[in-house]
Amino acid sequence: MPSLDGLAGILGDMTTFSIRQIGDPVLRERSDDVTDIDGALASSVEVMVKTMYDAPGGGLAAPQVGITKRYFVFHDDDSETALVAINPEIVEERGECEWTEGCLSIPDIGFTIVRPEFVTLRALDIDGNEFFMEADDYMGRMFQHELDHLDGVLAIDRVDKEQRKHIMRLLHERELVTPAPANPFG
Ligand SMILES: [Zn+2]
Repeated sequence: MPSLDGLAGILGDMTTFSIRQIGDPVLRERSDDVTDIDGALASSVEVMVKTMYDAPGGGLAAPQVGITKRYFVFHDDDSETALVAINPEIVEERGECEWTEGCLSIPDIGFTIVRPEFVTLRALDIDGNEFFMEADDYMGRMFQHELDHLDGVLAIDRVDKEQRKHIMRLLHERELVTPAPANPFG
């Protein structure tokens, strides 16, 4: 599978996308299938990889940067490279486990979620070739989390009622407070 390794270096100072935050309606849309794997898609994938590593994050779905298409980029732990999954789907899942997930669109909050433990992802790579990846632990979670983004589903929808109540209150309080600047004083 062609890796996107080295892109972050090649991109250098290339601009990054801004990551959409909870409350942005684009995060609630169901994304459309990718019909053309072309240069335009490759370019946005490159910028998404840089955006993901800058964040830093282990995965980033297209709607998180305002593109309502079904793909996400991720850091593959095995090959230590960035990859893209286009028109991805989970074709097999088994087991169940609890995991605390983070989300770049809802920063600084952990979401404790029960999901299938083992999943098999089927997707197309940047050349349009089909690939399958079996994953559990961090990668298994990340695949399911990113796929949710393509359906307009957020981590907050997956937690239990009690957790959701606490998180909603926290988010509401956060809205009332001016966020810390990126370059705080010492
Ligand atoms: Zn997320």
